[in-house]
Order: sequence, then structure tokens, then C-alpha cells
Amino acid sequence: MQCIWCSKKTADRDLEHIFPAALGCPDHMTLSGNVVCKRCNNKLSKLDLAVCDEFDLFAFFSGVPRRGGKTPQVLNRGNLIATIDPSGPKVSINMDQDPSPSHMKQQLGPYGGSQRNVKAKIAISGELASISAQVPFGQGKNFVRGLLKMALSCFTYHLGPEVASSNRFDPVREFVMHGKGTRRVLVAKGDDSQFLLASYPPWIGRDGNYCVEFRIATLHFLVDLSPDETQFLELRQKAQDFFGPDGFFVLPTSLV
Ligand SMILES: [Zn+2]
Repeated sequence: MQCIWCSKKTADRDLEHIFPAALGCPDHMTLSGNVVCKRCNNKLSKLDLAVCDEFDLFAFFSGVPRRGGKTPQVLNRGNLIATIDPSGPKVSINMDQDPSPSHMKQQLGPYGGSQRNVKAKIAISGELASISAQVPFGQGKNFVRGLLKMALSCFTYHLGPEVASSNRFDPVREFVMHGKGTRRVLVAKGDDSQFLLASYPPWIGRDGNYCVEFRIATLHFLVDLSPDETQFLELRQKAQDFFGPDGFFVLPTSLV
């Protein structure tokens, strides 16, 4: 078989998850038969990580086990640590300008030191206090590259590696492999709050190119796989009809 990313012959890997295993991708949602070589799998793992990082808190609070069935935890947010012990989930957030110890005794970084920091707010109303947390979402290019990687993986899952190896997908491959160019992704909020991974059959747009839809957590991602994004406007119209004018947004946010 040949690799769907670099087109070289593969013989060394059997299974490739279409979503990161760390987000709970089940074993039936895999590409079998050596369609991703070991080298590409290693090279692109940072894109999987970028996608996992965006969903880390959601996965934690939804109880999604980490790779190998390990207990959920969040350790790389800088000013937040979230772990689970026998008494339940524990979260420490530091909103100070100085480091501060967490429930794990580790020091938490100051707020504002990293783009991945979480902004917590406490609101008090009468005798009730509530805490809300704001998390920046979808800012990094590697996240968008990771989404395109998942889009072509979902496509391969439904239509097979032969169709996916067509050179019509070369611009998508270039973007995923080398970050070349820009690609836009439509993101819509589903109407339930379940943490779910789903891949829907691709469809062909008016100009004869493919579009892909998949879901991670509560979000639906709509991806135009045409060589030069000629179907993006059609896809945007579809999102507007289906999710309403305020029901979706475009990544990267700087290209809206
Ligand atoms: Zn490869």
C-alpha cells in the first residue's frame, strides 16, 4: 500500500486512528492496511496533539480516558492543573501574577504567561457563587492543520485510500504536511452537549469536489477538500441554512 500523505510505499504500520486515540477514538474508527507510513505518523503526531490540546478541558470534564485507558488529567495549561483522585476531580487555577502551589503541590504558572492559560472568574450573587472559565479556542495553525488531517482521514475511512491518493488532494496534503498555504474550516455547535466523535460520509459539491463533515466533542467541522477552496462559499451557505447565521464560525479567525 502507499501512504496517503507522502505517497511512499508503506509496510510497517497496520492501524491508524482517524481521530486521536487520546480523544477516545474507538478501534473501529481506524484506517487499516498500511495507509499511513511510520515516518508520516511520527511527523504529524504534533498536529494530533494540537487538536487534543484544544479539547483537553472538555475531555477532562467529560471523563474521556487518556491513551491506554489512563485517568483524565490536564497538566499543560500553565496556570491550571486538573486531576482525578478517589474523591473526584480536582482543579487548581492560578489567576495571580506570581506562581502559586496547586493541589498537586506543583507550582502553577502566573496568569497571562501563556496563550494556553485559562481565565477564571468568580461571580457572587446573594449567597451563591459561581465560577466560569474562559479558554481561547482554535488560535493555532497546527490546530487547523490537524483538522484538515482529520478531514482527509475521514474521507479515506469512507471512500478508501485509492480515491484519497488522487492528486486533487495534493494542496490539502501540502497544507497538512508542510503548513503550505491557508485552509479554512467551518465550525458549528451541535444541539446536544455530549462528547462525541463522529465521521459522516463525504459529499460532492456543485463544482464536483468533495466536502467532509465530522464531529469532535460538541462541535461539527465542515471542510472543503477542493484544491483551491472553490466550494467554501457553498459550504458556508449550507452551514448558514443548517445551523443558522449565528450557529457557526470560521477558523482561522483571522481569515473570516
Ligand atoms: Zn508517509
